[in-house]
Amino acid sequence: MVYRKAIIIGLDGAIPYFIKKYVEEGLLPNFEKLLSEGVFAEAVPSPPTDTPTNWTTIATGADTATHGVTSFYLHLPGETLPYGQKYRFRSQLAKYCKAEYLWKIADENGIPSIVVNYPSGWGMELKHGAIISGEWYMPGAPPKILSDSCTYSTSPSPEEKPLVFLGEEKLDLSKLPALKYRLSVKASRIAGSEWLYRDFTEEELTVFIEFYAISISGEKYDAVLFVQDNSAHTVKVGEWSNWLTCVFETSAGSVKGVFRAKLEKLSENGKSVKIKLTEIFAAEKWAYPETLCRELVEKGILPDASLEKVANEDKAYLNYPILLSYAKNARALLKLLTYIDNKLKWRLCFLHYHIFDSLNHHYLGYLYKDLPAYTEEKYEKALEVMELGWKIADRFVGEILEKFCDEDTLVVVVSDHGCLPSWKMISLRKILVEAGLLEYKWDDNLKRYRVVLEKTLAYPYYEPSYIWVNLKGREAGGVVEPSKYEDIRDEVLSVLKSTKDPETNTCPFELAVRREEDPYIGGKPQAETVGDILYYLKPSYQFWDGEVSILDSETMGKEEMEGPVIWRAKKIFGTHAYYTPGARLGDFTVNGIFLMKGPGVAEGLELKEPIRLTDIAPTVAHLMGLRKPKKCDGRVLYEALK
Ligand SMILES: [Zn+2]
Repeated sequence: MVYRKAIIIGLDGAIPYFIKKYVEEGLLPNFEKLLSEGVFAEAVPSPPTDTPTNWTTIATGADTATHGVTSFYLHLPGETLPYGQKYRFRSQLAKYCKAEYLWKIADENGIPSIVVNYPSGWGMELKHGAIISGEWYMPGAPPKILSDSCTYSTSPSPEEKPLVFLGEEKLDLSKLPALKYRLSVKASRIAGSEWLYRDFTEEELTVFIEFYAISISGEKYDAVLFVQDNSAHTVKVGEWSNWLTCVFETSAGSVKGVFRAKLEKLSENGKSVKIKLTEIFAAEKWAYPETLCRELVEKGILPDASLEKVANEDKAYLNYPILLSYAKNARALLKLLTYIDNKLKWRLCFLHYHIFDSLNHHYLGYLYKDLPAYTEEKYEKALEVMELGWKIADRFVGEILEKFCDEDTLVVVVSDHGCLPSWKMISLRKILVEAGLLEYKWDDNLKRYRVVLEKTLAYPYYEPSYIWVNLKGREAGGVVEPSKYEDIRDEVLSVLKSTKDPETNTCPFELAVRREEDPYIGGKPQAETVGDILYYLKPSYQFWDGEVSILDSETMGKEEMEGPVIWRAKKIFGTHAYYTPGARLGDFTVNGIFLMKGPGVAEGLELKEPIRLTDIAPTVAHLMGLRKPKKCDGRVLYEALK
């Protein structure tokens, strides 16, 4: 059987335990149907057991040593060691992936593929398909909303912005002298995005938009007029304009914005004006083919949740903003899939939905009775959130199955990793500082310690969980002579292995190995982005407690420098990225889920042995009659087929 159509529904962070639990409780009719009609297995991620890493693995069939997309932060040889930690999202770029994406092979075979909200593979073009960047920043893609909606007035209230009167002009379209006004819009959402990896000045992000108050009747001022690209757009009181454009000319290139304007108020003498602008949407650079950007904006379809309203049945989520935003996100994604399906008749879809990972990070620990912060009240609340979250996902999956899948469609539901309860923060920086391998100096302007690279021998990354030797000739600013490379690696290993948690008198590291010896990805040529030492934490230890700045080793706070090596987390009680594939704690595992259904696929079968996420791309390729991706490390899951 060769499938005509396949959909890979990616549910970030879905944990095997919950699917079983809630299906047994009868809460997830769509997952129940998938389980009874298809194959289920745990799915082992490629380390680091993180997000960009494993969505790349799922799409390429390659493990980390092969594809080289090591986690959120990539260190590339030739850069200084802190450089890669400045740019959280660049690992999502296809240009850093050394393996081949399945959708590229489909495209070569004329199969229309779509890649939606998928945190990997950005920056490619498909001849027959579409790639639409998602809710996260993608380097090379401006934020889809450049500026928030705002009202402008000649006598602005504190929430409004001013309209500036520029003078009178004579215009053919106005029977009274046209009154020229100007407003200024700041693309505030570009600042802080990782679009072009740079800081922008206020001026670069500001555009002026001009319009006229005009008189059509000749008796009073009764409309405003925007003149753009040699065409006139007239808007009467209470009306919305057509789509208008503006261009932000930044030092790093331009980005075109589109918006609509509503004339809320215009006095008869034209002197008092109130005008509302929608958000300014980016009209380019966030989807391929690029014409899709403007098309989707004008149809009110963005993959983000921001524009969606909730239906009545979603009111239960109102108490939990996180659930509400994912309920909206599901609707936005369904709208997008419907539109693209009508347009392209796609036959291969890679879709990503992030709900569970967010819930796990914030709530999972409360479902574990040995968590020090555990209380019955928090347990109940966490259980309610998880249950509602799974119901949202179940309905989302159900709607996808109903709208886009027929009996002959291959359906794969997969997660990139699971999650474990965690509560102990550990400072790897401090461990290396105390061992004399890493050096910081107080920076009075910054009010933080700043790394002294010329005295640093080993430098820690967290996502990926690697330590890099500051090697001369490889790293910009490297100081370790190549002849000392092995000595430094030995010293790092010995320091990690001798670290003790004073509370338990045990080592918080599960495993620390040289890159070539890693039992999960070692024993073969390694991508140059794989670190010199790979380490894994024991469950319950973590690095991230809600602030991503802590994952950047370039600086270090006074509190961390002077504090203990290990302390209690305050906010994040669920973690996955630092553990060995297959790690478990209580009911939970860092393994993800794998579900597959379609003709020729075994029915109602649970595989006893977990599959590997590297197996998905070759299996889908096999079932669609495509060649497997080059450099694929996985295999076809024959045991899942009839
Ligand atoms: Zn993830």
